Order: sequence, then C-alpha cells, then structure tokens
Amino acid sequence: MDAAASLCIAGRWRPAAGGARRRVHDPADGTVLAEVAEAGPADADEAVAAARRAFDDGPWPATPPAGRAAVLRETAALLQRDREQIAHTESRDTGKTLAEARIDVDDVTAAFRYFAALVEQEAAGRVIDAGSADVHSVVVHEPVGVCTLITPWNYPLLQAAWKVAPALAAGNTFVLKPSELTPLSSILLLRLLAEAGLPEGAGNLLTGPGDPAGARLAAHPGVDLVSFTGGQASGTKVAAAAAATVKKTALELGGKNPNVVFADACATPEGFDTAVDHALNAAFVHSGQVCSAGGRLLVEESVRDRFVAELAARARRIRLGRGTDPGVECGPLVSAGQLARTETYVAGALEEGAVLRCGGRRPGPDDGPVPSGGWFYLPTVLDHCHRAMRVVREEVFGPVLTVETFRTEDEAVALANDTEYGLAGAVFSADTARARRIAGRLRHGTVWINDYHPYLPQAEWGGFGRSGTGRELGPAGLAEYRETKHIYENLRPAPARWFAG
Ligand code: NAD
Repeated sequence: MDAAASLCIAGRWRPAAGGARRRVHDPADGTVLAEVAEAGPADADEAVAAARRAFDDGPWPATPPAGRAAVLRETAALLQRDREQIAHTESRDTGKTLAEARIDVDDVTAAFRYFAALVEQEAAGRVIDAGSADVHSVVVHEPVGVCTLITPWNYPLLQAAWKVAPALAAGNTFVLKPSELTPLSSILLLRLLAEAGLPEGAGNLLTGPGDPAGARLAAHPGVDLVSFTGGQASGTKVAAAAAATVKKTALELGGKNPNVVFADACATPEGFDTAVDHALNAAFVHSGQVCSAGGRLLVEESVRDRFVAELAARARRIRLGRGTDPGVECGPLVSAGQLARTETYVAGALEEGAVLRCGGRRPGPDDGPVPSGGWFYLPTVLDHCHRAMRVVREEVFGPVLTVETFRTEDEAVALANDTEYGLAGAVFSADTARARRIAGRLRHGTVWINDYHPYLPQAEWGGFGRSGTGRELGPAGLAEYRETKHIYENLRPAPARWFAG
C-alpha cells in the first residue's frame, strides 16, 4: 500500500482529497520514516458520513455481543501474530524502546480481550421492581453512535486501543485521528480490524493535523461522542467544539504526578534500592513522555541527600539511543519542539533556584554513542525545588525529575495534592497503614503503593481535576460509549383519566 494513501474511509484506503501529505520523522535521527496523507475538513466530512452510514444502516450496531466480542478477540490474535512488526513500527515512530513497544502491543491485546469478555458477560438488561405486577420495567444499554477518537503521540497504539476496543464492544462506529507525529501504528491497527471482520465503515482512520482535521471531527454535527486524549490546551478546545451540538465528551488530559517517598521505605538496603529504582522508572521511562510520569519526587527530608545522590548516580548511567538498538534503555524525545520545551523548563528552573544534580543538557561526545540528528536529552534531576516553580506546577513531558521534601504526613499530602491536575501518584512506605492512609487522601485517579506505573485493563484509568473527565478501561470505560435507556411497559393498559374530559 502507498503509505500516503493512509486515510481509511468506508473500507477504502486513499490519499487526502486535496493530495496533501505529511512527512513522519524518526526522532532518533530526524530522518523521514514515512509519508502519510494529510487529511483536511473535506476528508473529515467524508469519514464521518461513512461512520454515520455504518451506524444508521450497517450491521455492526445490531451485531449481538458475542459477534462483536469475536471480532475483538480476532483482532487480539492478529495483534499477537504481528507483534514484532507493530512493536518495531511503534518504536521507530515514537522513539520508545523496542522492549516497551512490545509491552504496549501486549497491553493492547489484553484490552481487546478484556472488552470482548466484558460485553459478552453482561446481562441483556436490568429489570426494575416498579412496585406493581402490571408494569414491566427494564433498563438497557445501547451504543451512542458515531465516535470521534483523538489520540496523542506518546502511546499511539495503546491510546487508540483504549478507545477503539470499548467503542466497538458497545456497538458504535468511529473515526480515529491519531497524532500527526506518530500515525503509523494506527494504520496497522485499522488493517487488522478489517482482517478480523469489522464491517466496512464501522472503523475509519484520518491521518492529519489537530486543526483543521481533528477540530472538524470534534465539531461535526454527525458525531455523537468525542473521546480525546492529549494536552489540556487542545482538550479544552475539543470540549468547546463538541459542546455546540451537546456531544458526549471524555477527556484524558495531562498530569503532574507526585511520587511520595517516606524515610521508613528506605530503612533497609532492599527498601532503599526498591524506592530509588521505582523513582527512576517513574520519571524516566519513555524519556518522561508519559501522562502519569512521576516527575515530582516528594521525599522525606531526613533521607533526601542519600536518596537524591543515588538517584542521580543511576540516572547518569541510563543508556540513551535509538529505541530499536540492543541495550538502549531510553529513546529520544518525540520532536524538536518537545526537546526545546524541555530545555526551556530546565533553564527556567535553574533561574528559579533549582540545583542540578545530573543531566540538564543534550548528550555530548562523553555521554556514549547516540545517533546524530536525534532529539535526545539527558535524564535530569533538579533538587531543592518548590511548589512555586513552573517546572513543579506544569507538565514538562520530558526526562526531568524535580525534588521537594516534607517532614510530616500532612505536609506530604498537601504537597502531593497541590496541583491543578490529578491523574496519578504513588506512595512508598514500609508502614502499610500509613501507605493506605496516604493513598486514601491523594486526589488522583490512580494511586500506586510501593510501585509505579502498572495498570490493569479491569481497573478504570482517568483523572481528577484538570486531568480530565470520564474514565478509560474497566466497566466505566465501556459505559462511556453507551446510552442508557429505560423501557417502561404497562401490562394492563387503561385510560389514566388525568383530565376529566
Ligand atoms: P496534543 O493535545 O498536542 O495532541 C493530542 C491530539 O489532539 C493529537 O491527535 C492532535 O492532532 C489533536 N489536536 C490538537 N489540537 C486539536 C484541536 N484543536 N481539535 C482537535 N484535535 C486536536 O497532545 P500531545 O502533545 O499529542 O500529547 C501529549 C499530551 O497528552 C500530554 O499532555 C499528556 O499528558 C497527554 N496524555 C494523557 C493521557 C491520559 O491517559 N490522561 C495519556 C497520554 C497522553
């Protein structure tokens, strides 16, 4: 297939109506990886029309749950068949390591299987006790309709799957618009869905920019639901565009996630090693380009110096390079823009008084072999930070860890919750009661105790505050894509005689 024919509309792969194309770059060296179609508003209109026809007149919404589950399970099987090819594509496109990309494919497979099982297990409806033998009352779920699904560049396949799998499980049709920076794995996913037997038009793909292609999809009157994952600035625009026609809206936005480490977690050598190791993973996996990255370390003051020294020593040893190369532990940032943004935040933090413990620059000749032309930045630890600093308040989305300290539980909780976001956070403590107490007080959608980053398809994912609205995964992740209908049946119809005449 010609990669520039990357729009999938009503089962047909084609270029953009106006012929526009976009180059997709390899972030490890800046070279061109592929060219894809650059969709415009006319393509968006056509994709919505295709999804609309597939919803209003096509077989998918009326396919019984077992039939929908079968297509999801087949997609899962095909994802595993093509695991290496997909992981390789995702690694080259995003810069993440091949090992992480393989985990993404496995997690995506698990999400398809989970939603297949969930939709199959559910009862046909909930019968209500209406308080009368003459009434049969039942609550049923139906698909919402045509869904616009907009995804970011850091987990392109994973974020797409968290939307596509429940949307299809519930019987909807969709138009997916991946990030213009990393569209390649979404193209592979759409091909697999067709191979798995998804009817034409039930799944459509637009490669193209946020504005105008995504903006048109968010505002389109033919769309019933918009599910968006990305930054706060675009998310609020999407929500405003969707509001004009009262679409259902789900927003998965950013985070500024605290990792709270108590001194008691560091009392033994094993505990110390574990807490430092997780702090490193929390901040630097995928070069910190993770919505739930633990970029804010809150460590009890009495262990700060020892903890930060060890953390910085290990951060200096992280091996940077092309994600597909053996032995590489961290890839580049996704774009020149993301690299510049990271540099701006670090420079600002240093001006505001942060103390640099490691990193703080692009790799040089002494930092090991790194491909030239790539958007690499060294893992960076900034000590002596405080809550007024921009780097502490705003999402960096780069390999930057800030360090703050606390003395009491109340202080730790106050610091951890002092963010407009509320996506995720962690607490490390050897005292189970304390760890659970803290977890209960954190205003974040996911809280890890003595761990960082794992998630389960059965458990809801999403944020408090400005981290978004709605949830992905879990039963609530399916509910997002459903309308609820109450059917009240009078079994002994008779005049109501509300009006005398
Ligand atoms: P972004 O907001 O720049 O782009 C996200 C998507 O929105 C892209 O597909 C983009 O083309 C599209 N878009 C941009 N402007 C639009 C508009 N006006 N109308 C419609 N669509 C538009 O975000 P990004 O830089 O790709 O991703 C990074 C952000 O995503 C971070 O803030 C990160 O925290 C967030 N994120 C959140 C989660 C989560 O689960 N909460 C997961 C991953 C990423």
